[in-house]
This record gives sequence, C-alpha cells and structure tokens, in this order.
Amino acid sequence: MTHHLQPVTAFDMAIFGGTGDLAMRKLLPALFRRFVDDQIPPASRIIGVARTEQGDADYRASVAEALQRAIGGDAELLERIPAFLQLVCYRALDATGEAGWQEFAALMCNGDAERVRVFYLSTSPGIFVDICQRLREHDLHRGNTRVVIEKPIGNDLDSARAINDAVGAVFDEQQIYRIDHYLGKETVQNLLALRFANALFEPLWNAAHIDHVQISVAETVGVEQRGPYYDHAGALRDMVQNHMLQLLCMVAMEPPTSLSPDSVRDEKLKVLHALKPIDAGNASRLTVRGQYRAGAANGGAAPGYLTDLGRDGSRTETFVALKAEVGNWRWAGVPFYLRTGKRLPLRMSEIVVNFRSIPYSIFAEGSGTAQPNKLVLRLQPDEGVKLWVMAKYPGPGGLRLTCVPLDMSFADAFGVAQPDAYERLLLDVVRGNPTLFMRRDEVEAAWRWIDPVLAAWQSSGDAPHGYTAGTWGPSASVALIERDGRTWHDDDSD
Ligand code: NAP
Repeated sequence: MTHHLQPVTAFDMAIFGGTGDLAMRKLLPALFRRFVDDQIPPASRIIGVARTEQGDADYRASVAEALQRAIGGDAELLERIPAFLQLVCYRALDATGEAGWQEFAALMCNGDAERVRVFYLSTSPGIFVDICQRLREHDLHRGNTRVVIEKPIGNDLDSARAINDAVGAVFDEQQIYRIDHYLGKETVQNLLALRFANALFEPLWNAAHIDHVQISVAETVGVEQRGPYYDHAGALRDMVQNHMLQLLCMVAMEPPTSLSPDSVRDEKLKVLHALKPIDAGNASRLTVRGQYRAGAANGGAAPGYLTDLGRDGSRTETFVALKAEVGNWRWAGVPFYLRTGKRLPLRMSEIVVNFRSIPYSIFAEGSGTAQPNKLVLRLQPDEGVKLWVMAKYPGPGGLRLTCVPLDMSFADAFGVAQPDAYERLLLDVVRGNPTLFMRRDEVEAAWRWIDPVLAAWQSSGDAPHGYTAGTWGPSASVALIERDGRTWHDDDSD
C-alpha cells in the first residue's frame, strides 16, 4: 500500500513559545516532515512568537539547527530545509504586554481573509489567558481561526475550569484544540482499527473474556530541568490525569456511532463518568505513590529526586500505580492497573489487554501451560501491536505448547515510516478535525476523578514510598497487583 496523503490548503500558524523546547524539538520538525511530503503548501506561513528580540534570519538559523538535530544525517531531508525556512518568520512580543501586538496583528491579517489561522499556545499555561485576550483585542479570534492549548490544563478541577472559561470567553469550543499527543500516536489509532474494523475483537472486549488491563508509561529520565514545574504537579497530574486516562478511555469506550469528533468524545466522557471513585476511604488500598532515591539509571549513577530538585522536604510523587475500575456492564470487575514513573529501568509506554485463561486444558502434563492471550499495544519506543497466542512448538517431541507473538502492527510490511504524533495532530488542527483532541468536559471529568485522589493523599499525611532509581518503583506497587493474583507485564517478554 502506498502513502495516501491529503494536502491541506495554505494556512498560517503562529506558534507562541516558538523558541521553546516543544516548538524546536517537536512542532517545527513535525511541520517540516509534512512539508517534505508535500502536504503543506509553500504558500503557508509559520510564525514563531516569543519575547526574545531577534529577526527572521536568526530565528530561521535556530530552526535549521533544530531540524538538523531532529532528522540526523538524512541528505535528502537536509536539502529541503532551505525551502521549508521560506515559510518561517519570527515576531518578538511579550504576550503579557502591549508592545509588538500591532505589528503581529498586521502580519496575521496580511493575506487571504478566508485562510485557516492557527494559534498554537506552546507557552506556560500561566499566559494562555493573556494571549487569548490580546488575540481578541486585536480581532484575531474570528473566522477560520483555531487555538491549540498544551497541557497542563490546570492543576485541579477549579484551575482547569478557570483556563477553560478564559479561553472559552474568546473562542468557541469548536475552535479550541486541547492537545494530548498520546492520542496522535499510530498505535492509538490502530487500537480504533483493531477494535472497530475487525469482527474478531469486539465480541471478546468485555468482562466475560478480559481479565484485566495494564497501562504503563515508564521514563528513564528524572525531573531534569523541569523540577520547579514537576514538584507542583507530580506523576498523577503530569501523566495520569491526561495521557493515561485518555488511553484508558480509548480501550474502555463503547463503539462510537462514527469517527465524528463528538461521537468519539461522547463515548470517552462516559468512561470517565463511570470510573469508580478513589478517595480517602480506599486510596491506601488502590494507589501507591513513590519517589526515586539515588541509584543506577541510564548506565550511570543517578541522584535522588530531592537532589535533582535541589531541596529537601518535597513529598511529590515521581511514581504512581493505581487500580481503577470502570463501573458499567461491559467492565464490571475488570481492573485497569495504571503505573507511571520517572527513573524506571526502561523508557516505554504500553497498553496490555490480558484475556482470561482457557476454561479447561486438554493437554497432557508436560505439554506446558496454556498462557492467557495478551494484546500488547506498544506506544513507544517502537510503536507496534502484538497478540500473544499459544501454538505448538514446531517439530517432533510431542505436542508442546509455546506462547508466540503475532505481529499486528504491519508498519514493516507496508514499508511506511511511523509519523510522529504531532505530524498527525497539527494537520488535524488545520483540517478542522478535533476527534483526537480533548473536549472541555473530558478534561474536567478527568480532574473530577483525580482531585479526590490528591485530597486523600494530602489528608493521609503519608510520605511517598522511596524506590531506587533504575527499578520498577516501590515494592508496594508490585504488591498492589500481586494481591489480586496478577503480575505486571514483563516487558522483556516482548
Ligand atoms: P519552554 O522551553 O520553557 O518554552 C517557553 C516558550 O515560551 C519560550 O519560547 C519562551 O520564549 C516563550 N515565552 C515565555 N514567556 C513568554 C511571554 N510572556 N510572551 C511570549 N512568549 C513567552 O517550554 P516548553 O517545554 O516548550 O513547553 C511549552 C508548553 O508545552 C508548556 O505548557 C509545557 O507544559 C507544554 N509541553 C511541553 C512538552 C515538551 O516536551 N517540552 C511536552 C508536553 C507539553 P521567551 O523566553 O523568548 O519569551
């Protein structure tokens, strides 16, 4: 099968925070790759915006460096950088002040009034409101305009509502794209294809056939430069409230009637509403918090969290494991075990759907035990889908059972490179397709479930368990799942 690329019409995209880490490492390389594949017309404009005073030439030079870092030594791609830079320019302004806005507004209005205009807010959320208000003051919010907002959307339900109210006071909900890049990953879209384009899985996708689901997001890095932000957030807010609950929703939702944005998001919202509460009454049984201590990670000695942070006394969790349950007919009694942490042994994100054991074995003793089937959806580092099934070990020696993976990702078979999630999502914004973006009510429902967990931890007065850097978190997280007679999926078996 060949690529099927749908070019978009020429657009203008202003990236607030255009000099920042996200813009340089993810957004501009993603736009570049779509440009190289001729999906982005050369008449489009990409405008970097930040406070740093510099001209177009200096900005283009730093974008060129960022692109070189992102694409490595691929000569064909390197050749296309100058053509891409023709689309790129820069405007210096402070989003919280007046200076520079007139010129910026003039630039944005200089051209086709019908053209799609995207404002990507890749700055700290603290200035989202200022930016939106200025966009309105300069009449930049009308027409074919979309605004993209990055996480974190709030720190709790009240602060998320305040951001949503303020952005919503300027833009209609259909113009607001709340990005969660996990939803743009190929594997997550493949989950939709597996579930809803095959007759095979959906009849088994329920409590009668699925024993439990595991969702893991593991990082090897510590907090690095993000200490001050992270210490206010912690793993539950940083990872579970957004990425992991979104993945849980994609696994657990009922079949939407179509892939229209509201059909999918209505179904995800129902899952969030169906999550059984975790609060002071059960948090100690259903959740585990950890904080890394010094150890060996990434091939060397790694300091503990407090050393990384540069101060003592923090009780912020860098690891969380929890057992969630979706209270509805489809999932009654099926636990969803979630775990995420920093300074773990591997960098990986995956969903493991564990099917139930066979009801009865006809195989003789010594044939080996039939392992329950598993569907492993790997989001990173190597995106892919594997279905583990039992088979006969080939050759003579009697009927011996062995567990083998069926590779269901097919990317290699089609010879298609896996695009970065931002490539897909940025073009969805330009096309006006918000299916893979979070609606306001989803974000708020997720906070409504998370807030009581945070409150329970706060009121317990307990400190997080320590765990050694380079291990899979505190032993209490192993106990959380082993109490139920289950174990965390061993990644080495993939
Ligand atoms: P960053 O590296 O700190 O960049 C922040 C950007 O905002 C810089 O370009 C900065 O440039 C600009 N800025 C700051 N104050 C400004 C102001 N008053 N007016 C105009 N521009 C201003 O942050 P980042 O890592 O790119 O993250 C950006 C957003 O994405 C954050 O909300 C973050 O949580 C989210 N996010 C980031 C990542 C990631 O991988 N980096 C992943 C997911 C989500 P000047 O200093 O020159 O103004």
